[in-house]
Amino acid sequence: MHGLWSTALPLLRQQVGERNFSTWIEPIRCEADDGVVRLEVPSRFFRDWLTRHFLPTIHATLEQVAGKPYLVRTVVNGSSAPQSRPVAVTREEPVTKPRGPKIGRLVPHYTFDTFVVGPSNGVAFKAAQEVSAAPGRRFNPVFLHGGVGLGKTHLINALAHDMLRRWPRVRMACLSAEAFMNVLISSLRQDQMNAFRDRFREVDALILDDIQFLAGKERTQEEFFHTFNALHGSNKQIVLTSDKAPGAITGLEERLRSRFEGGLIADIQPPTFEMRLAILRSKAERQGVELSPEVADYLARSTGSSVRELEGALTRVAAHAAVHGTPITVALAQQVLGPLLPVRSVSIEKIQDAVSRHFGLSVADLKSHRRGRDISFPRQIAMYLSRTVAEASFPNIAEKFGGRDHSTVIHAVRVIEERRTVDGQVDRLLATINDQLRE
Ligand code: ADP
Ligand code: MG
Repeated sequence: MHGLWSTALPLLRQQVGERNFSTWIEPIRCEADDGVVRLEVPSRFFRDWLTRHFLPTIHATLEQVAGKPYLVRTVVNGSSAPQSRPVAVTREEPVTKPRGPKIGRLVPHYTFDTFVVGPSNGVAFKAAQEVSAAPGRRFNPVFLHGGVGLGKTHLINALAHDMLRRWPRVRMACLSAEAFMNVLISSLRQDQMNAFRDRFREVDALILDDIQFLAGKERTQEEFFHTFNALHGSNKQIVLTSDKAPGAITGLEERLRSRFEGGLIADIQPPTFEMRLAILRSKAERQGVELSPEVADYLARSTGSSVRELEGALTRVAAHAAVHGTPITVALAQQVLGPLLPVRSVSIEKIQDAVSRHFGLSVADLKSHRRGRDISFPRQIAMYLSRTVAEASFPNIAEKFGGRDHSTVIHAVRVIEERRTVDGQVDRLLATINDQLRE
């Protein structure tokens, strides 16, 4: 039942946050059988802390994943003593923590090692490696762009990890453009703009993710422009990502666009079939999932173009197999993924119609900006189906749902994708509506 724990991990990561996750959850080794889960932890101190702070969450998550309650036992590494008996510490807490950026934080497993390189992302990968080897020297700024779920965030995290390894003294900021804006806003509110400027202008490398977020945010662009110039002028490395090329971001000031275009621009395209297979193999290995070539082939063929969707499909199939204790076969994959294969003739309108009828709402409710859960969940379902079944683009969906920002749609798709993995009811609901659409 290795699958149970590896399925629970991403959910736990979400609930406890990145830092707690890497400190308190990642070091745990898990064995499960017969309704009992054994968590092996490195020390007694660790066990006490875990019990006090995270055990209820672990309990609930395991139950959610497995669909039944588990008895959870914690055991200190190297002994088989149960929770109640005091045990000697068998391993010390790690003394050296890996270095992180001064501002922002990194996803631990987004490294160069785990990034599959091929024709669709080779140039971006090469650029990231060169930057890490010689920050501020050859390419500055570096601007990486590509569609949603194609590996931009993974790649800049890999770059950041590698740069910190090679240049341990480098002062780095690595964060999303949205986080940058939030820091800016709170500095403005607290009248701390000098501190803000000092903080960002003293870094050696500034890595900003999803810069398209700054579109239309004039005050933030203004401040970013000055930060950019100060850093660039003293040969500090700047790396930016976006879901569009600089010229295609509307609501971006001309002077910023021309700065972005003054460096290296590399795009990331959807992976080739061979890359999709390699990505599946590597993710399966990481999750301890056994994947036959036939199933890999089926998954690589039958999911959308983004790597995130590909991963989502693998996780979903693996979760079903783990919960039901069956091997992962093509038949199982078809059963789990089958109902949502694209129906190309379906329009967003037809989906809105079907979803609103199912939930007893009006189409206007779905398009409205009202937020109650009784409306927002059906809306997310409708957005998800528009993406996966009608294969509509994010901006198109955003427009058809009352002219929202397309990041809302991206968020909705991600939320439903994740809930499908753990909640069989959501899966059945989607299948039911999908059947109606096929009629
Ligand atoms: P983006 O930031 O472009 O939307 P992410 O970097 O978040 O995409 O990638 C989405 C998921 O796909 C992540 O889990 C990431 O690890 C994975 N992924 C994307 N590209 C690759 C790749 N080339 N090799 C391995 N994993 C990848
Ligand atoms: Mg990203």
